[in-house]
Amino acid sequence: MKTPADGKDPAITATEKAIEILDRLISFDTTSRNSNLDMIDFVAAYLDGLEIESRFVKSPDGKKANIFASLGPGAQEGGSIALSGHTDVVPVDGQDWDTDPFVMTRRDGRLYGRGTADMKGFIACALAAIPGFKERNLHTPISLIFSYDEEVGCLGIRPLIKQFESSLPKPKMVIVGEPTSMTVVDAHKGASRFETIVTGLEAHSSLTHLGVNAIDVAARLIRELRDIEEEFAERHSSHRFTPPFSTINIGIIEGGTALNIVPKTCRFLWEVRPVPGLDASEVLARLKDFAETRCLPSMRAVSEDCDIRITEQNTIPSFQASATEAVSLAMNLAGQNSTSAVAFGTEAGLFEQSGTPTVICGPGDIAQAHKPNEFIGVSDLEDCMKFMSRLAERACA
Ligand SMILES: [Zn+2]
Repeated sequence: MKTPADGKDPAITATEKAIEILDRLISFDTTSRNSNLDMIDFVAAYLDGLEIESRFVKSPDGKKANIFASLGPGAQEGGSIALSGHTDVVPVDGQDWDTDPFVMTRRDGRLYGRGTADMKGFIACALAAIPGFKERNLHTPISLIFSYDEEVGCLGIRPLIKQFESSLPKPKMVIVGEPTSMTVVDAHKGASRFETIVTGLEAHSSLTHLGVNAIDVAARLIRELRDIEEEFAERHSSHRFTPPFSTINIGIIEGGTALNIVPKTCRFLWEVRPVPGLDASEVLARLKDFAETRCLPSMRAVSEDCDIRITEQNTIPSFQASATEAVSLAMNLAGQNSTSAVAFGTEAGLFEQSGTPTVICGPGDIAQAHKPNEFIGVSDLEDCMKFMSRLAERACA
């Protein structure tokens, strides 16, 4: 970029533009339970003002949408570098904020508001960079992919990714701008959620032999999950993660009605966070096998109606960048010479599963995310705008 006549650093000017856009983005309460259409309409209108057409991929109920837009030569044929982010934010319920979370507040070099770090800051930078991309003679198209319902299990992006096989041009690589303080992240653990419902048989608590205690069975299953965790920790571990193995957490358990009744039902929810290389469905298969061979026969000997149902509720795949191309581009743009792995999940694994090389790099600190008084530093946005301006240069080369 050439220096403007007023002598201002162009990265700073672009940052002010990003801040102006971020101010608007924060004003839309896009908590996952709400519609994100007002924000999406704002983005579409902004792009329309730059003569860029956008396409919506709506949720089944029509209340939310992903937006996809691209610019540059052959953008409709695919092969773009995609900048990807989620529009939804986590709730502010019960959090003690010093300022209105949906009014961006600038103070001491920081911008406060829900979603400033996670991750409207990146979206604002991507949008602020578009005029700069347009000015240039791009050889590689750039696209924007902004999703809904990321914070509730990366649900929204899935139908959009599906369309890469049909109606949407498939990018050649995706940069997911989750807050990594502009470090380059090439791996994270996955997260799979499961529900187990044990159905036993009620009896008077003095006649336990006539009943099947569902809580007892649940306890055996939970014990088995601990054993599976230990066994898998030996098989798949990676010191890039803390802890270095796949974890299993039992998060919720409920069962029984009274102390003098053998409980008929027990339900527990559990989560696997696998390191790349382990598929959580292996854990599921192991627990199902244990339930069928070790628990159900003795339960059914008392009553045929006894049952154990184990179902997968949602999976965010783990992420391990498959190709060096996206990673080395991001390292180059961010001025980094190493990569790291993170603990949180993102949409990156879903992009990778679709065969699109992906990398994670974005402004802001994940430590600020999901908390009251979430903020992003103005300097974080400056760094991101430098990344965008290097991207513009690279996309011309
Ligand atoms: Zn996020």
